[in-house]
Amino acid sequence: MGDMEFKTVGVVGAGVMGAGVAQNLAQSGVDVILVDIATEALDKATASIRQSLRMQGLFNKSGGGAKPAEVLARIRTTTDYDELAGVDFLIENVVERWPVKAEVYPKIDAICPPECVFAVNTSCISITKVGSLTRRPERVVGTHFMNPVPLKPVVEVIRGFHTTDETLDTTRRLLAVMGKEGIVVQDLPGFVSNRVLMLTINEAVWLVQDQVAPAEDVDRLFKTCFGHKMGPLETGDLIGLDTILDSLLVLEESYRDSKFRPCPLLQKMVDAGLLGRKSGRGFYDYGISV
Ligand code: NAD
Repeated sequence: MGDMEFKTVGVVGAGVMGAGVAQNLAQSGVDVILVDIATEALDKATASIRQSLRMQGLFNKSGGGAKPAEVLARIRTTTDYDELAGVDFLIENVVERWPVKAEVYPKIDAICPPECVFAVNTSCISITKVGSLTRRPERVVGTHFMNPVPLKPVVEVIRGFHTTDETLDTTRRLLAVMGKEGIVVQDLPGFVSNRVLMLTINEAVWLVQDQVAPAEDVDRLFKTCFGHKMGPLETGDLIGLDTILDSLLVLEESYRDSKFRPCPLLQKMVDAGLLGRKSGRGFYDYGISV
């Protein structure tokens, strides 16, 4: 394996998404430089990638694919942004907050090669607005990956105002290396998937708050009546309730539309540390942090 065009890819932010993106790239034979501001996040990412590879090994008895040690050896973890100086492509996955993204982009713009594409893995933030933080808005593109990244074959690709066809082609080629296909959409906050999904999850939280039905029944209705694999509250727990809250706040602020107002119960659960799977408890109890 290995790819000539994308030898080394920078992955910034090593949370739920950054870890998944790094794993997927390394499993595709690409070297990864995984950057986070927190050493603990990097350690946690390495542990979760190891765990995920082990699970894949159990289910994929055919023995295909690289050994976990080989995959992990392709991922270099660091808190030093300067190590991104030679990357061929960069995927950014820091928290869904504008001030944080606003701090990251001028920094990577100064460090990374000028031809390097910046792919923004964001739930809702405008790609055009992120592009404006850099001197290369034509090379800034949205890649809204789905969770868990290694298992999801489709990525919502967002074309910012200045994003060129060449950048979209480069992005499609990288996604192909990762075994994925992109669906290209235009840029407005929340894009296609999260403008619908965030409202749905938020409304489901209102239903629980209003005691119309417990979480299990809300989810059961979606699964049994509409054939959804997961209900909206299970999906919220998988994404992370803090990320849902941040996304709703971005949408509310972007559109100045109160329909995106986060349900108070969602805020309360985030304040209480009930973030869903990643903290071990959200609308459901996962026992341990997974
Ligand atoms: P997360 O909270 O799990 O991880 C975010 C990581 O960013 C943390 O490890 C944090 O330490 C790190 N970070 C914060 N500031 C940083 C900085 N300045 N430089 C480097 N690292 C920094 O969040 P997540 O769920 O992985 O989400 C990341 C992004 O992906 C968000 O924009 C989110 O909206 C988007 N996204 C999330 C999902 C999902 O299902 N969770 C799906 C698609 C897209």
